[in-house]
Amino acid sequence: MTFGAEEEIPWDLTPPDDFDAPPPPAERELVAVSAVAPAPSRYADPADALHTVFGYDAFRGDQAEIIQQVVGGGDALVLMPTGGGKSLCYQIPALVREGTGVVISPLIALMQDQVDALSAVGVRAAFLNSTQDAGQRMAVERAFLEGELDLLYLAPERLRVSTTADLLDRAKIALFAIDEAHCVSQWGHDFRPDYLQLSMLHERWPDVPRIALTATATEQTHKEIQKRLQLENAKHFVASFDRPNIQYRIAPKNAPQQQLLELLRSEHPGDAGIVYCLSRKSVEQTAEFLNQNGISALPYHAGLDSKIRAANQSRFLREDGIVMVATIAFGMGIDKPDVRFVMHLDLPKSVEGYYQETGRAGRDGLPSTAWLAYGLQDVVQQRRMIDTSEGDDAHRRRLGQHLDAMLALCETVECRRVQLLKYFGETSKPCGNCDTCLNPPEAWDGTIPAQKLLSTVVRLARERNQKFGAGQLIDILLGRTTARITQYGHDTLSTYGIGSELGEQEWRGVVRQLLAQGLLAVNGDGFGTLITTEASAAVLSGSRPVMLRREPERQARPSKARRTALADLPDDIVPIFDALRAWRAAEAKEQAVPAYVIFHDATLREIAAGKPTTLAQLGTMSGVGENKLAKYGEAILEVLAN
Ligand code: ADP
Ligand code: ZN
Repeated sequence: MTFGAEEEIPWDLTPPDDFDAPPPPAERELVAVSAVAPAPSRYADPADALHTVFGYDAFRGDQAEIIQQVVGGGDALVLMPTGGGKSLCYQIPALVREGTGVVISPLIALMQDQVDALSAVGVRAAFLNSTQDAGQRMAVERAFLEGELDLLYLAPERLRVSTTADLLDRAKIALFAIDEAHCVSQWGHDFRPDYLQLSMLHERWPDVPRIALTATATEQTHKEIQKRLQLENAKHFVASFDRPNIQYRIAPKNAPQQQLLELLRSEHPGDAGIVYCLSRKSVEQTAEFLNQNGISALPYHAGLDSKIRAANQSRFLREDGIVMVATIAFGMGIDKPDVRFVMHLDLPKSVEGYYQETGRAGRDGLPSTAWLAYGLQDVVQQRRMIDTSEGDDAHRRRLGQHLDAMLALCETVECRRVQLLKYFGETSKPCGNCDTCLNPPEAWDGTIPAQKLLSTVVRLARERNQKFGAGQLIDILLGRTTARITQYGHDTLSTYGIGSELGEQEWRGVVRQLLAQGLLAVNGDGFGTLITTEASAAVLSGSRPVMLRREPERQARPSKARRTALADLPDDIVPIFDALRAWRAAEAKEQAVPAYVIFHDATLREIAAGKPTTLAQLGTMSGVGENKLAKYGEAILEVLAN
């Protein structure tokens, strides 16, 4: 007999299908070629391009070496976390080398934004994809053939068309950049069949250097990219995957929407961010809940009409302070630099997925939050989903291992970042910027409660041939007199009422952690009932102690609501920063481009703090290149003067 059926969840298993979605409805014509006067297409050297075009002082991490490798004509395979600065690694060689840099990217819906951002700094860029009509394509092809393009973005499926390859033959190619290179991996969740044929690049144009880039860190993906793209002679650059500006926090889930709302109000008022939910239904409900509470939120999931999805994505990118509530169908390639938080209301299926999703926060390097609410129900749901998933045992085992790693991260009493980085093969020291570092939880000996719980499960099975979910087990231990207790006569069990030393929430924590540690299992009947495991026997016999995590007292709230990214700005700078942002918002609206295409928050912060009074001073600020100085310099000085 089984009891305790739970609501069926409409899982969002559809793959992200926004790759070839129509472009967002812009208020203007699609301008495929940037309308920039022929800037000098070549620069003395990479450092010159970095300063003049992008307005940055120095290369970061491995950038200089990677660029040198490609400029010199060699191949490169680059593994760098989101926000690490991958784009410059192919953009600068494309500017320095003769010819056009051809970028293969699966993110059709984002190509327009990429081209806009490049145009804004004076780089001549264009794209070819299925969203264009013949006339637009011809204009781009002409520009390419006449050597007027620094960068050309192509969807991988374009290369299947023989005319595309013929076109590429007819002009000088500076390099091939293969963005999101993990899409070539058949085991990853972003697999794109068209990526497999990218090995043709090497065969057809053996002399053109190739650079493959990804933010996926696992060894397996790394090897697969190398093999499938025939990058045997490539130099490999593997950056640290640490994202020090992201604060990782994992909290017990009580009333997730309310917890989320409090967090947004106290720590992220007015900030842009992403909230991930597992099901489409909870996406819709959460977005509605936030809107009702005065927070501008938009839903995004694969079940929405593609036009609505594209419009919501476009608003998220273009407007300030929008919260995107989404399933994991949303996010790949979103290069909005000022995403201040990524919140998970449900447990991700793997550490890899979690890290990719949270990595979308804080690309600009400013302080950002990754928060996950996690509870017993998540574990039950995920285990049940694995049990009922399609595929063979090996596949289920792999899913189980992914989940176990995720659970270990949730239940650790050690630094979250140390655990995360260890998962990606890096060793590190406690970070001081995660919840367990800031507010250490205690470990406590939970052997006796574990024994009480397990023996209740055993008694129900042996004496009554019954299986129950967590709710009934806890009611038994607490000695409650509910209708179901009476109905099944559970008040006559010998474990009835023996668990009053803990409260309901604490018991749920015990169940959750026993599940996480494999000392209790979800029965494969699809109802979420609980059974013992082989390992349970050692706990019951007293030969295996059980250490559990005790949640720390709730952290004191920050004394005043302050947007995280501004936390370390002096009070008198904040209004200047806000004035600059208001100016930027108006400018972005007029040009119908995302605000960050004008200037990043990080740049506005630097300007607000530095209060330059001359164009020359303004030109030294990070992110202010020649083009932007000429275009916006006077306006900025005017905002500052006021
Ligand atoms: P990725 O593609 O690896 O996620 P991006 O190329 O989008 O990262 O870069 C992330 C952010 O860092 C962007 O805002 C970019 O302008 C900035 N950035 C990259 N390189 C530098 C640098 N050398 N100096 C300053 N800012 C940089
Ligand atoms: Zn830490």
